[in-house]
Amino acid sequence: MIGLGIESTAHTFGASVVSDNGRIMSNVKDVYKPPEGAGIHPREASRHHSDVAPKVLKDSLKKASKTYHDLDFIAYSAGPGLGPCLRVGATLARFISAYYDKPLIPVHHGVGHIELGTLLTGAKDPLVLLLSGGHTMILSAHDKRWRVFGETLDITLGQLIDQFGRSVGLSSPSGPQVEALASKGKNFVQLPYVVKGNDLSFSGILSAAKKSLKSVSVEDLAYSLQEVAFSMLAETAERALALTKKPEIMVVGGVAANKRLKEILSSVAERHGSELLIVPAEYAGDNGAQIAWPGALYRKHGYSVQPERAFIDQSWRIDEVEVPWRG
Ligand code: AMP
Ligand code: MG
Repeated sequence: MIGLGIESTAHTFGASVVSDNGRIMSNVKDVYKPPEGAGIHPREASRHHSDVAPKVLKDSLKKASKTYHDLDFIAYSAGPGLGPCLRVGATLARFISAYYDKPLIPVHHGVGHIELGTLLTGAKDPLVLLLSGGHTMILSAHDKRWRVFGETLDITLGQLIDQFGRSVGLSSPSGPQVEALASKGKNFVQLPYVVKGNDLSFSGILSAAKKSLKSVSVEDLAYSLQEVAFSMLAETAERALALTKKPEIMVVGGVAANKRLKEILSSVAERHGSELLIVPAEYAGDNGAQIAWPGALYRKHGYSVQPERAFIDQSWRIDEVEVPWRG
């Protein structure tokens, strides 16, 4: 069985062909870049997606040496994400499904990050840190769902980094540039460390960092922001690890590419005799394979929706989603 996955939740339009034994036969994407200092504009991003979609889809099939006729299913990212962007992917998927008479499968974007992560790292039963643009969550699978053991109460870690980057004139997403600035920082400045129960709040760090820009260097602020935010995450992850006693910690989503975060989490994993697994950088950011692979897993369990019932949900929560292959 092979299928096509279409990703379009935010800045990325991606398409990938995978087989049900986990072979990624193609993974093509085109990423919308907002002007420097600006955030992602949903309408502009959706226009970008409409413009690049024909080529991305064509290239993805060509790379896999397949045609639409060869596909056994079409999966699309149904949420959470930006409405106009989600609609582009869902509409294309619905059309392809109806025209070629192929089963259609809506996939939760966060489930996509996690399941692709387990495919690529070999994780069996991990404590998951889902650190993408739209999610900051600590999760573990129980009874056919990903259960949340801690999450942000306001902005995500990725948004903290991107909004700080934007305030110093960087283009979004600015994770790699902020990381580079942070590596040059030397002096630690206090920023609000806010952990409530096992949840996190990052908005105070953003406000304080922006206010300090007049008196503190960008490098020192980037360094301090990373140290405080990553320590908060490590504290909550460690508590969840102590409770669940999982043998693996797996980090997925774009922020997983950060080297300093890896260092901090390595020491957490070591203290608990757990293995730290990080999704390969090439697959850390949004991509079609994270949609195609769960599509294959759902299809094996007989899931699909009628094209006229294809939905999108901009604020779809991950713990509402059934994942029948997770006991
Ligand atoms: P995703 O939604 O999974 O594509 O993740 C995008 C987020 O990952 C954005 O907020 C990026 O700024 C962030 N990101 C990417 N690379 C890094 C990095 N090296 N350090 C921290 N954050 C990063
Ligand atoms: Mg993502």
